[in-house]
Amino acid sequence: MTTILNADLHCHSVVSDGTLTPEALAARASANGVELWALTDHDEIGGQARAAAAAQACGMRYLSGVEISVTFLHQTVHIVGLGFDPSNPALIDGLKQTRGGRSQRAKDMAKDLARVGIKDAFEGALQYAGNPDLISRTHFARHLVETGVCKETNEVFRKYLTEGKPGYVEHRWATLKDAVGWITGAGGMAVVAHPARYKFTANEEFALFTEFKGHGGQGVEVVTGSHTAAEYVAYAAAAKDYGLAASRGSDFHSPLESHTELGTLPYLPGAVTPVWELLAARIQ
Ligand code: AMP
Ligand code: MN
Ligand code: MN
Ligand code: MN
Repeated sequence: MTTILNADLHCHSVVSDGTLTPEALAARASANGVELWALTDHDEIGGQARAAAAAQACGMRYLSGVEISVTFLHQTVHIVGLGFDPSNPALIDGLKQTRGGRSQRAKDMAKDLARVGIKDAFEGALQYAGNPDLISRTHFARHLVETGVCKETNEVFRKYLTEGKPGYVEHRWATLKDAVGWITGAGGMAVVAHPARYKFTANEEFALFTEFKGHGGQGVEVVTGSHTAAEYVAYAAAAKDYGLAASRGSDFHSPLESHTELGTLPYLPGAVTPVWELLAARIQ
């Protein structure tokens, strides 16, 4: 299979921290010319049946998807899963455990924000969560913009929701081994999401890719809304060096907040093996 395919294998719906339904995302992706699509909600696969049906109705091919939160070397790393069986019990159970700490974390975040004068942020953020089980920093950001604390979500993250800022609460997510194991155990492919976003040293990044491969991981995002053009080149080279397949996805969350629209990124560079080549048998 060629790298010249409008595949968008990373985006979010109201089932996690996006603002559109799976059906609205499918329609938007299709209107933008997406040929192969995956919905990859954070730690949750409750939108998969709707996404697959909507993709079929729009004439797009579909891969099941998820984006799992992992803690690796004291940082949060995201692992995308593609082409797994959404009815796999170990995957369902693992994701449930991963989601489990989110409500308590959100209450702790709200307590922290109250100390700097921002009251009732938990209740406020919850209003934006389409799925109460999946309350995320994004929902706090929307609430703080809506109540005039900040002008835009980026500013909220900069001032409140990132390490060292009031409102940031350290959290322990899944292990790399577990997340990769849940995905591959369900017949899917594990992919390191937006690798340029992490603040790893070269040695730490080497450890991430080496351990990821050791656990059975097979892919890395090369062309993503989180990377610059120079990073496409750097991670295409990393994909080749580590023997990983390359993925492409916008990481679209919302028409108003996302700077990268579904299906509009450049194609993968020609020299990589696209993830869809290895996943051909899993495409619906
Ligand atoms: P959580 O899983 O609750 O820690 O929330 C992480 C989500 O916050 C990511 O998936 C992004 O959607 C969003 N996010 C993280 N950093 C930023 C940022 N600087 N600006 C806007 N959104 C961000
Ligand atoms: Mn998100
Ligand atoms: Mn991510
Ligand atoms: Mn994402």
